[in-house]
Amino acid sequence: MRGVIMHAPGDVRVEDREHPQIVDPTDAVIRLAATCICGSDLWPYRGADDVHDATMGHEYVGTVTEVGAAVQNVTVGDFVVGSFFTSDNTCEICRAGYQSFCVHRTPAGREGTQAEYARIPNADGTLVATPGQPDPDLIPSLLAASDVLGTGWFAAVAAEAGPGKTVAVVGDGAVGLLGILAAKQLGAERIIAMSRHADRQALARRFGATDIVEERGSAGVARIRELTDGLGAHSTIEAVGTQESMTQAIRSTRAGGHVGYVGVSHDVTLDGQRLFHSGVHLHGGPAPVRRFLPELIQLIWDREIDPGVVFDLTLPLEEAAEGYKAMDERRAIKVLLTV
Ligand SMILES: [Zn+2]
Repeated sequence: MRGVIMHAPGDVRVEDREHPQIVDPTDAVIRLAATCICGSDLWPYRGADDVHDATMGHEYVGTVTEVGAAVQNVTVGDFVVGSFFTSDNTCEICRAGYQSFCVHRTPAGREGTQAEYARIPNADGTLVATPGQPDPDLIPSLLAASDVLGTGWFAAVAAEAGPGKTVAVVGDGAVGLLGILAAKQLGAERIIAMSRHADRQALARRFGATDIVEERGSAGVARIRELTDGLGAHSTIEAVGTQESMTQAIRSTRAGGHVGYVGVSHDVTLDGQRLFHSGVHLHGGPAPVRRFLPELIQLIWDREIDPGVVFDLTLPLEEAAEGYKAMDERRAIKVLLTV
């Protein structure tokens, strides 16, 4: 089968890879219906993370083609959605809703879902079947649920977005944009998107942003305070992972407010004094997407949300290298690869 390998930073190729097999009785194998490139795939692509001949991809939807002897919750032919960590969904951490920290978790990226087929460990606890075979136009949205929507949703929940709240969103990538959609669904009163790009601002407004702030740094903080009677946002979503974005998020939040941070942290250092005097709650990390999947799948199935519109470039799997390039150059928000 065909699949993506990143040999080194900037060097992405689609190659023949071994067809995945059931290894453990709790495994399933799926045939991907579509896959995609994640903003976090750009860290190794740009050399910020070590990479050497790595299988790539951790977002997936598709049809179960094989199940191990112990698998009970999904069967061959089911259309399923999973997430970037597999989880048993039964351990104490999973039952508390933190499946991305499951004691038996495995990274889906190790299987490399930018491919025609993928092995999914912990199939029973990881895969959620859709109510039936999806209409083709729902597939991008279901794929978004696998990571970017689930992550944006967790960020909004971690930031305690809800009725009466003003939510600020730092980061206008796919996760930030879907954090806006999530905040809107959760009933936020006002949603301030921080973005400088007209196309992303338009999508932010479509998803529910009420205000746009183009300024960054201290000017961005000042602008958010202006919009919130000098107090700052109740809830801030941080969806980048840099020092600048994390500082921006903390400083944009009022005392007693909440920051939900989901940008994969790179070289972020928090100043203890500044944190102490901010009085904000910080919660985040790799999103427990599995917690939200049943609800998100239903919202998509009922066509109440359309997160799939974040995919603004669709390419065949064979052209994955061009997809990486387009995202790296910010010509595309998020690239869907057809399989
Ligand atoms: Zn678990």
